[in-house]
Amino acid sequence: MKYFPLFADLENADVLVVGGGEQAAQKVRLLRKTEARVTVVAEAVTDELWQLGEQGAIWIVPRNFEARDVEGQRLVYAATGNRVLDAAASAAAKAKGVPVNVVDAPELSTFIMPAIVDRAPVTVAIGTEGAAPVLAREIKSKIEALLPANFGALASRAQGLRKLIARTVPNARARRRLWERLLLGPFRRAVLSGAASEADRILGAELHGGAGLPAVGRVSLIGCGPGDPDLLTLKALQRLQEADVLVVDRLVNPQVLEYARRDAERIFVGKTPGGPTTSQAEINRVLVREATAGKIVARLKGGDPFIFGRAAEEMAALQKAGIPVDVVPGVTAAHACAARVGLPVTLREHVRQFSVVTGATADAELALDWQALAAKGTAFAVYMGVGNAPFIRRNLLDAGAAPETPVVIVENGTHENERAVATTLQDLTDCVAQLEISGPAVIFVGLDWTDAGLERPAAVTVYRRQRRPANSRTHPERALTAKVDP
Ligand code: SAH
Repeated sequence: MKYFPLFADLENADVLVVGGGEQAAQKVRLLRKTEARVTVVAEAVTDELWQLGEQGAIWIVPRNFEARDVEGQRLVYAATGNRVLDAAASAAAKAKGVPVNVVDAPELSTFIMPAIVDRAPVTVAIGTEGAAPVLAREIKSKIEALLPANFGALASRAQGLRKLIARTVPNARARRRLWERLLLGPFRRAVLSGAASEADRILGAELHGGAGLPAVGRVSLIGCGPGDPDLLTLKALQRLQEADVLVVDRLVNPQVLEYARRDAERIFVGKTPGGPTTSQAEINRVLVREATAGKIVARLKGGDPFIFGRAAEEMAALQKAGIPVDVVPGVTAAHACAARVGLPVTLREHVRQFSVVTGATADAELALDWQALAAKGTAFAVYMGVGNAPFIRRNLLDAGAAPETPVVIVENGTHENERAVATTLQDLTDCVAQLEISGPAVIFVGLDWTDAGLERPAAVTVYRRQRRPANSRTHPERALTAKVDP
């Protein structure tokens, strides 16, 4: 180890930044996270620095650096971008024994800056001794993803409790166990999810030896997106890693489970069309049972839980049982599929209204407002619509939709076997049949690339039903063509 990591106390400390350009501004931005009094010495400064000076947030000395400027400084940063000036600042600081960092010049520096993950009071500093800053950035982004944004709040809360807990629990071992329970258990989760009163209640119970602590766990309904694990939100990732039990839908990509704890129990409650099925009532029972046993339950759903996800039924069952439940939104299939084929779902002047509709109903006939859907200037995405494609086509045409209305189907969006096809409303039924579209698919109606001034991506195939030549008098299709293309 050539460089030894440590944390500098900058409370009420003076720190000097030599230089007034963008590099200097970057250092100032970092330093402003601390309590340091920052002085910038430079003949000219950026607008940003100028404004900070005006606000009194930093002190600007508008002239070139002089050796005496380093006196009384806790740290010096040289960031003039001018090698000679930087070297002079470095020499002056070294002569006075003040630690100095010169941007991009470790040989002139007595300390270097790590990559920082800021969850103050928790900070993670990552260094590679300058060998490979790219690696430091990679580690930083991984840790950024791992630590919830309000992780610092948890540490602050602990800080605020130290005295009280030291007084209440004098035995060191008991105290350590209490800290572990607080910072790794339900108290932590309550603080991180912003449930202040729940946190207080748990804390009170823990301080009284755990008596009266709720034995119940909690359930998160987590939107896992359409398949590609890279579309998971950071929050989904954090919840996955906390969970004791995963209750998993069929539409959730198994790759997503890789992000959960290895020892988390997995319960599959898929509803395969035509295959083994877990009823909604049974799923509700499983969720209540697992949470009542005190477990942290991650209920994994495809796409977004609130879009055709039956989240309401599960939430109602949990609320009725007095079990805390929250929802983590996910990328819904329509949004992911639209992005895959580069198709905007609203378009200035062309599409002012975009809806999502279901193409299947469990019980009665599919009753949609066909007139409204057929109206000009609207577009929509049909979920679960493949099986009902002929019915949907017929109703839209009967309601006056143009047969040439563009239709785009994306099957298994973001999965390896993704397929995308562009067709028209009149060819929808044949398209689904001929191409044997059978996987989960979104059918977009009323959207097309031309209106948006875009090109159809090469990966999207075009389906057009083969028609007999127009002079083939015997073919019934002629009448239809004549009617729509007068
Ligand atoms: N909550 C989910 C939708 C569940 S309903 C969401 O927000 O995406 C199931 C329907 O979603 C499927 O029938 C299909 O229409 C659509 N769907 C889900 N995953 C899909 C995918 N990867 N590609 C295309 N459509 C998908």
